[in-house]
Amino acid sequence: MSDAIVVFNAGSTSLKFGAYAIDAPGTLTLISRGEVDGMQTDPRFKAKNAAGQTLAEHQWGQDQKINHRTAFQFVIAWLEKNIAGMKVIGAGHRVVLGGTRFESPVLIDAEALDYLDSLVVMEPSHQPYNVRGMRVLGEAFPGLPQVAVFDTSFHRTMPEVAQTYALPQKVRDAGGRHWGYHGISYDYISRQIPKVAPEARRVIVGHLGGGASMCAMRDGKSVETTMGFGGLTGLPMSTRSGDVPADLLLYLLRSKQFDDATLEQMLYKQSGLLGLSGVSEDMRELQESADPRASAAIDYFVYCMAKFVGAYTAVLGGLDALVFTAGIGENSVTVRERLCRALAWIGVRLDEKANQGNGPRISTADSRVSVWVIPTNEELMIAQHTLALVRP
Ligand code: ADP
Repeated sequence: MSDAIVVFNAGSTSLKFGAYAIDAPGTLTLISRGEVDGMQTDPRFKAKNAAGQTLAEHQWGQDQKINHRTAFQFVIAWLEKNIAGMKVIGAGHRVVLGGTRFESPVLIDAEALDYLDSLVVMEPSHQPYNVRGMRVLGEAFPGLPQVAVFDTSFHRTMPEVAQTYALPQKVRDAGGRHWGYHGISYDYISRQIPKVAPEARRVIVGHLGGGASMCAMRDGKSVETTMGFGGLTGLPMSTRSGDVPADLLLYLLRSKQFDDATLEQMLYKQSGLLGLSGVSEDMRELQESADPRASAAIDYFVYCMAKFVGAYTAVLGGLDALVFTAGIGENSVTVRERLCRALAWIGVRLDEKANQGNGPRISTADSRVSVWVIPTNEELMIAQHTLALVRP
């Protein structure tokens, strides 16, 4: 065994990790993945090997509460003790917002942490825990290099016009900007596309999971993306609304049907596929349901994607390839088929058999636009960026 990189994703009451051995320069192999969850209620640790088999479980006890520092210490101690010869030489963190300062992954120091802390007010659901995680890990293991990898960085290549909202300077200066998200996934996918479609310069990628977005890429760089300031807008998602007009939200506030807290709850947790169907937020369940509202929700999802593909084809000046990734993109034969059929006008021809088999290429040889299913791997992407900065 060998030196290792551990990737962390710190949430409000959970800490997910993935440990990668550095086998040869630049080669990372997944050794273990797991999490500590229920930190404030019933803390539990669970670790699995790369094949998904359980390696260890631990419970602190029902009435116990543990903090993130304890969780980090437990995970690193467990890895170094139980995986023979493993020495953790770097930690990579998934961090939502990198702001305007960080256009790529960065080695963390006190100043970087303070800057990332200043962005918490813009993204209160993940950013505070991501930043706190890096702080406590730094306190517990002062010599351990830490790298932050951001969801927003990949989109900083968007032209200024695409990063701008038509709002007063003061609002834009305060961070009112089209940030874009799912950037770690798009970064990973942008590196896979040349391996299968080296000629494709103008590409649209759909990251279709519980959260869903699309990204237009030119030569592997983001030029447009559907999520905007936060993770709410663009495509409808499992429970998030996607695009809704700001004046509708003003009306709901003005008429006192909602206050800011209930409005946020409605938009993030009760909308999207769940809100439309009233049946489920889960694409599998919607596909299996006989309820007409379930199929209407899928119709809406596909309609919105087709609309964005049209717009982004205009932005790119044409389209060479379309890529599906994440839970729905990698697995839903129906969603891919329906979107591809809606895009016949652009020269998309679906290979039905290949689509049934989840790709990788699901368009026919004569399709003007090639269509691909490429599984994403955000955790590996974070590990690779971490290794590159820890061992330049
Ligand atoms: P998250 O964003 O939470 O990581 P995932 O990328 O795992 O989510 O995607 C979850 C979505 O993928 C769910 O809507 C789920 O129904 C959908 N999904 C997973 N497998 C299939 C499948 N075989 N067919 C259709 N949808 C699927």
